[in-house]
Amino acid sequence: MEPLLECPQCHARAMDLHDYESMIVVTARHALFGLRCPHCGSRASSMHPIPADMQDEVLYAAVEVGAGMGLNG
Ligand SMILES: [Zn+2]
Repeated sequence: MEPLLECPQCHARAMDLHDYESMIVVTARHALFGLRCPHCGSRASSMHPIPADMQDEVLYAAVEVGAGMGLNG
């Protein structure tokens, strides 16, 4: 899996999902990420699959706010 996204402004492939400014979980597997490009500083938002190594963090956050994500029966 390629974790870096291309910036829509400067086209540098430098936007890392792990450095998101905001994340709106849409499904258990996908989220709308708010990202800032480290090259040009522009903001972008992108719907993207949640990286496997972020799943635990996302699920923990969902449990913390009492969100039902349909994975715990
Ligand atoms: Zn950029």
